[in-house]
Amino acid sequence: MSDFTLRLTNTLTRQLEPVEPTQTTADGMPLLRVYGCGPTVYSYAHIGNFRSFLTTDLLLRTARALGWQTRYVSNVTDVGHLTGDDLADADGEDKMAKALEREGERFANIYDLARHYTDALLYDWEVLNLLEPDVRPRATEHVTGQIEAVQQLIDAGHAYETDDGVYFHVPSFRDYGKLSGNRDAESLATGAAGESREVVTDDAKRDPRDFALWKKDPGHLMQWYSPFTEGEAGGRGFPGWHIECSVMARHYLGENIDVHTGGEDLIFPHHECEIAQAESLSDQPFARVWLHTRFLQVEGERMAKSSGNFFTVRDLVEDKGFDPLAVRYALISGQYRKPFNFTEANLKSAAKHIARLRHIEETLIPQAASREGDLDPAFEETLDTAYAGALAGLCDDLNTPRALAAMTEGVKAIYSRDLNAATASSVQVFLDRINDLLGIVRSDDAGSPEADPLAAQVEALLVERAEVRAAKDWTRADAIRDELDALGVEVMDGSEGTTWRKKTGA
Ligand SMILES: [Zn+2]
Repeated sequence: MSDFTLRLTNTLTRQLEPVEPTQTTADGMPLLRVYGCGPTVYSYAHIGNFRSFLTTDLLLRTARALGWQTRYVSNVTDVGHLTGDDLADADGEDKMAKALEREGERFANIYDLARHYTDALLYDWEVLNLLEPDVRPRATEHVTGQIEAVQQLIDAGHAYETDDGVYFHVPSFRDYGKLSGNRDAESLATGAAGESREVVTDDAKRDPRDFALWKKDPGHLMQWYSPFTEGEAGGRGFPGWHIECSVMARHYLGENIDVHTGGEDLIFPHHECEIAQAESLSDQPFARVWLHTRFLQVEGERMAKSSGNFFTVRDLVEDKGFDPLAVRYALISGQYRKPFNFTEANLKSAAKHIARLRHIEETLIPQAASREGDLDPAFEETLDTAYAGALAGLCDDLNTPRALAAMTEGVKAIYSRDLNAATASSVQVFLDRINDLLGIVRSDDAGSPEADPLAAQVEALLVERAEVRAAKDWTRADAIRDELDALGVEVMDGSEGTTWRKKTGA
């Protein structure tokens, strides 16, 4: 397939460039190493987040179709992400702590909240047929590595400690601003919303652009001991948001990676800061290609909870009843780097495409199995051309409209004839290849244990059970017991808390 060259628009160079892996596996296969920023698990990820994860998914599928191996790391942010994240140095509250405050007693503590929304993420991820990353590290599992990196940056003169925290000193890194174009202090005082806001929150900061690597806060809900002990707050605190991705990417993928992906809102400051940290630690380019997905609009407007047009995957699949693959199809129907308007009309049109693919696989192919006949080389060639067009479309800067149009030509050719056992086998090959490339024919993976819908349902009932028991609402408590019984679940109350298991034979 050497006539297919993958080209991507690199935010760093602002150019469309050919992309090839820079390393090989032990057995000599090209190896594409990709890091994609995952979500902060303080609520359900929305469809705009998933559009961005789908861009990475399509990149990996394209790489595999080209015969490359892939190594994909996508993190879960479960600490350190503050509400004022559009500023050069974020201010505000920790998003996780704020969510816990908002959701109150629904969760036992902040780790319980993180686990709930991480499980929900994994479930939605699988529902949308996204490839599972090779590693999905959580920020809270890598705090030691982050503390070490902060110490190294201090030792190398790139960071300094104040009574409130440790800051990266932006003037110590000459290339700051190369990704986003934000270089001067004035433009940095303006958040993404355009309004001017206070950037400096710590008087001891040496430059307004300096950003926190470590925040001292002995009262924070998630805290770790660190060697940064100056001042009254002492060593206890939590890492800044940006340092986690630099550390985890370097840990799992090495010092220079091939492609780093994320939503367009991450270009500044998150990715700009990731570059400053990682390149100051290694003196080498961090990621060669930066790929950013434009956020979507819904029905022509910015998605916002207050406008009633804010959708999660479960809103569309569970509440509105759409086929998950139709949601996937609709979300990839616009190219990642173009503005995209997500509408109910394109969801319905996507559902028709998915229904046709399912009909071919589940009805037309089985029906043809008993019909004898010959292979048809011209028909096979039509399908090969359709597949090649789909792959060429993805190689062309992940041009999904082009890829889906090529796929549709293949589908039309299939519908325009009566299949026999031989031609049906050509169709099956086509569907398998299209599914590998676009993930829209069938869901590939059986459920992972972490994303078990029964577990989610049982956990929710157990939380409610504890609440109604505390409130002595015995009627509701009995009703919950019956519901758990109907689910075939046995509940065990012990000194260590409540556990449950599926009854044998249920
Ligand atoms: Zn990140």
